[in-house]
Amino acid sequence: MQSKTIGLNTICTHTGEVRDEQFKGAVSPIYMSTSYAFEDVDVKRYPRYFNTPNQEALGKKIAALEHTEAGMIFTSGMAAISHALMAFLKAGDHVVFQQTLYGGTYNFATTQLERYGISYTFSDGWGAADIAKAVKPNTKVVYIETPSNPLLTITDMRAVANLAKSKGIVSMIDNTFASPVNQNPADYGIDIIIHSATKYMGGHSDICAGAVAASKEHMQQIWHSSICFGGSLSDQTVWLLERSLKTMGLRVKAQNQNAQGMAIFLQAHEAIDQVYYPGLPSHEDHHLAASQMHGFGGMLSFELTREIEPSDFMKQLQLIKPSMSLAGVESTMLLPVATSHSLMTPQDRAAQGIKDGLIRFSVGIEELDDLKADIAQALKAATQKSAMTI
Ligand SMILES: *Cc1c(COP(=O)(O)O)cnc(C)c1O
Repeated sequence: MQSKTIGLNTICTHTGEVRDEQFKGAVSPIYMSTSYAFEDVDVKRYPRYFNTPNQEALGKKIAALEHTEAGMIFTSGMAAISHALMAFLKAGDHVVFQQTLYGGTYNFATTQLERYGISYTFSDGWGAADIAKAVKPNTKVVYIETPSNPLLTITDMRAVANLAKSKGIVSMIDNTFASPVNQNPADYGIDIIIHSATKYMGGHSDICAGAVAASKEHMQQIWHSSICFGGSLSDQTVWLLERSLKTMGLRVKAQNQNAQGMAIFLQAHEAIDQVYYPGLPSHEDHHLAASQMHGFGGMLSFELTREIEPSDFMKQLQLIKPSMSLAGVESTMLLPVATSHSLMTPQDRAAQGIKDGLIRFSVGIEELDDLKADIAQALKAATQKSAMTI
């Protein structure tokens, strides 16, 4: 079947699947072999060549989901990010990173790149014009993240893709927060689309993986360096990820709806100061988000009024789990200052507008009313506690 003519949930359920010709089972069999024939075969297969039957099956599904020609799977999101970057960079080159960046990518840039003689600039903001200003004659890659972590800023993908194309620069995006359900950067001309599949693709907080989608030509270049770095994923986990992706459309759409409901609820609550969610008309990039996303996603962040200690509030939660990571079917919250952005200097955090009391909320698929009730009771309990200590 042609991916362009079939819908999202059909791609999620079927595209790429390995047909079980022998027993006619409904799902792809797992091929655990690390040794395949080399004679009389079209493809010499080996796990670290990223071409076992299960890896290829999943790569096809990811390519179809992201409207690209090719897809590859890695051991983690950071493996996908680092392998993709290193495929296009060499000593003397320069990269522009969007200022608001996932903490691990920021850490990779600031601790690793200079060791290879690669220089980099963080843009002064997240707008396409800010990124354009940071481009130098030796810039080879521009790297963006939209919606960004944790403030959900939105960057104009068309403008960044056009800028890159006009200068012969490779454009890359971390599309983790949106997932392929809510945003397809290839439609706007972005070259390399990267996911931490640990998040919405896996969706159940039990798989660590990464994915890249790109044209065949770009993927060939990524493949050549990736077989040296070796970040291929075990076929058991590849298979589990294929299973997870079958429900991604259903899960993420439910998360979009819950997040919109939570954003409206939080914005109206007297104990909340600020809510950051691109689906709110009050979000500064709401119109841009609406023009380039199919849905606004399941992530939001918020600040409590100054009287309430964020950790007091989080300790009172009964249903929502204070925990690391994001995008599972279960709702979770964390403090970026203590987790995802703890490796960043306080000055850099402040420059990005990440306050110490900011709470990031990954909205799950629970019933919206139950989530609202949990937050309402936790805010009430934390408010009473603060009233007692004054
Ligand atoms: C988690 C995450 C990553 C890194 O993925 P890992 O699977 O943890 O290596 C990269 N980008 C974003 C936006 C993430 O949320």
